[in-house]
Amino acid sequence: MSHALLSPSSAARWLACTPSARLESQFPDSSGAAAAEGTVAHALGELLLRECLGTVEFDEWQVLFAEIEGSEYYGSDMQRYAEDYRDFVIERYHDALASTPDPRIFLEQKLDMTEFVPEGFGTGDCIILADGTLDIIDLKYGKGVLVNAQENKQMMLYGLAAMRQFEIMYDIRRVRMTIYQPRLDNYSSYELPVEELLHWAETELKERAKMAFEGTGELVVGKHCGFCKVKARCRAMAEYNMQLAQHDFKQPELLDDHEVSEILKRLDLLTDWAGSVKKFALQEALGGRKWEGFKLVEGRSVRRYVDEDAAAKAVLKQGWPEESVFNKKIIGLTAMEKLIGKPGMVSILGDHVDKPPGAPTLVPESDKRPEYNAAASDFAKELAEA
Ligand code: SF4
Repeated sequence: MSHALLSPSSAARWLACTPSARLESQFPDSSGAAAAEGTVAHALGELLLRECLGTVEFDEWQVLFAEIEGSEYYGSDMQRYAEDYRDFVIERYHDALASTPDPRIFLEQKLDMTEFVPEGFGTGDCIILADGTLDIIDLKYGKGVLVNAQENKQMMLYGLAAMRQFEIMYDIRRVRMTIYQPRLDNYSSYELPVEELLHWAETELKERAKMAFEGTGELVVGKHCGFCKVKARCRAMAEYNMQLAQHDFKQPELLDDHEVSEILKRLDLLTDWAGSVKKFALQEALGGRKWEGFKLVEGRSVRRYVDEDAAAKAVLKQGWPEESVFNKKIIGLTAMEKLIGKPGMVSILGDHVDKPPGAPTLVPESDKRPEYNAAASDFAKELAEA
């Protein structure tokens, strides 16, 4: 994890909106528990890989594992996901062994990015060198957002730095950047020839990184704003969203199709921004700040049992039958998969689980999913009901 001003993990943001990094540095780090959990998962993944590669002595293993096991974030889920990561990396390593007799593998490799990004440092979770290809694999332990390797700026930065670090010893012609996200069952790779990576560095990265370090350039609103700490207070973001409210919609009273499309295009960003402004304002209000025209009140509350067992006993004692008091319900599918495992889901529940089509949703045309066919779907429904 890097604490430099230009963190590789937010490279997409400071490359697109160069003043964002300096602005973000004025706000407290809110990554807290998620970052700490990720650190433990990375330590476990590394240890499992070292164990598998035979590069850790038993005594050292015991000490390292005890440390991980003692963490509040460690549990059977983390163990399973870290094992998935280990298996994924080992498979890649075996692929490399099949193509060349002497592949090299490096774990948790410190990467110096200062040639491209001022004060830039990072860590490559796993680097495999084989047959002219440098394969850099990044373990993403988060599960909030699915991360794709395609043109991923953080990965391109890691790939560049790793390539520079190893090019003296190895002939590297291509760089493959891979993201492995076990909790979402997601992985993807993106491969570039070395010349293309260097071209990106010379024509875009270096200049934009310098501007970002200096805090110069224009504020640019876009998808990269998602996790920006500045979002709730960013003037450019507010102006962008308020433009919609001020839009000079023409008469008559009803919006036409084009106007509705224009609103739809901006709605995700608008609702996300509105949510972050609300959250920010509430936090500040809880800290004592007064917002003109607003006050803090207790939210609506719902009834609940103080003690479910005691409440049930009290009702049963009055003679009400058990079946009226208790609700017997099968556990959810995620919990079931944990209980019986993925193979069990196929062998035991294969005929008892299906995945009905999702409710239709409006997404931008660029979305990869095929277009919903309303006619075909209604037809299928009629057939099912016949
Ligand atoms: S919210 Fe968006 S526009 Fe504003 S500083 Fe952050 S990245 Fe830049």
